[in-house]
Amino acid sequence: MIRLFVPHPLKAGAGVAPSVDQSRYLSAVMRLNVGDEILVFNGQDGEWRASLTEAGKRGCLLRCEAQTREQDHAPDLDLVIAMVKRGRVETIVEKAAELGARRVRLTQTRRTNVDFVKLGRLDAIAIEAAEQTGRLDVPVIDDPMKLDKILDGWDPERRLIFCDEGGDARPMIEALTDTSAPAAILIGPEGGFAPEEREHLRSLQFVIPVSLGPRILRADTAAIAAMTLWQAAAGDWR
Ligand code: SAH
Repeated sequence: MIRLFVPHPLKAGAGVAPSVDQSRYLSAVMRLNVGDEILVFNGQDGEWRASLTEAGKRGCLLRCEAQTREQDHAPDLDLVIAMVKRGRVETIVEKAAELGARRVRLTQTRRTNVDFVKLGRLDAIAIEAAEQTGRLDVPVIDDPMKLDKILDGWDPERRLIFCDEGGDARPMIEALTDTSAPAAILIGPEGGFAPEEREHLRSLQFVIPVSLGPRILRADTAAIAAMTLWQAAAGDWR
């Protein structure tokens, strides 16, 4: 069944106008006709079965028929990721959506060598991944912000799992003893964290330094591995 994210209120009988791209996808690509049904979600009202009441060149129109799933929310996990090459950031955003991160916070650190991202493209990737993976919400992608600024404004209630490639941190699975959310995972850039960044991070009460094993993982691999471990130990994979 086709699933689409539609940022409109969803309730019985509500008319929903998909975007131009979504309309073209439904009528031209998937060749749906009036009466065919798809699933829609908006991040608040759960998931609804919706039927096409118009399907053609002038665009499509949907009507909400019945709710298929109550709204729920992915466990409260953020991913804080240093800016790496465009392709890898896109992979990280897609995997964060599939692995249930609620929010992806891009950050600039001492050694980030990328300081520009196309947020619109990352949002589109997050939406498409959320549609495919069956989520009822779409991860929020935050504008790049310097790591110091993110840490200065940090909510100490949220444990920050600092993936430290320095080699002297505890294995992540052991460090996840107090495993409840809200939590965040921090992944550094290709160049790793600078010594003063590591020192500052380790001085913060809410930070849990962890190791992801004896090998150096690329940032996208590290993000996927850490989110997997967290979901298995503390998230909704139990
Ligand atoms: N250039 C650095 C590696 C950076 S890897 C070096 O050679 O040391 C990018 C990020 O992935 C790191 O900053 C860290 O957050 C994470 N990472 C990679 N391997 C890791 C490991 N074995 N343990 C913990 N974190 C790791």
